[in-house]
Amino acid sequence: MKKAVYPGSFDPVTYGHMDIAKRALKVFDKLVILVSDNPNKAGLFTAIEKKDLIEKVLDEYSDSIEVIISHDLTVNETKRLGATHIVRGLRAVTDFEYEFQLTHANRVLDKTIDSVFFMTAHKYSYLSSTTVKEIAQFKGELSHFVPELVKDAIIKKMKENQ
Ligand code: ADP
Repeated sequence: MKKAVYPGSFDPVTYGHMDIAKRALKVFDKLVILVSDNPNKAGLFTAIEKKDLIEKVLDEYSDSIEVIISHDLTVNETKRLGATHIVRGLRAVTDFEYEFQLTHANRVLDKTIDSVFFMTAHKYSYLSSTTVKEIAQFKGELSHFVPELVKDAIIKKMKENQ
């Protein structure tokens, strides 16, 4: 059984993340989505809320996708979970530099764990959680970027934070 992890902030999950997860499932039997819980990187949602949203939007894949909150280095989690690969998404050339550094740093930490990259559908290639949050702040339409329940959660959260 081929198992991979897909780490990220997912603050919140977008159609771009979902697209990458679905592509990864064509190659791997199991995908564990690792939601980072970084106290130094305050996001809009808590790790628990982010996990909950991912589980809901990818509910139809619950046999093959598990979502966990990660407090450890990705390579350590990968090994602990018995996974062999780290999945990451590439949007544009601009992602490459960061992913290049991350992959090589991870390889220094553990040379047995490899990273694989999927390119998102062209229509999501400009999409990031940050963009979604910026659009939401100015009350722009979010339906192109996130599922309805994520859209509702963002609007609710932003109202609470006002
Ligand atoms: P990070 O904060 O580590 O960049 P993110 O949650 O933003 O985490 O993203 C996790 C992974 O998903 C990264 O590899 C990122 O490149 C990828 N990703 C995010 N949005 C998209 C998208 N629209 N298309 C493809 N990959 C994406």
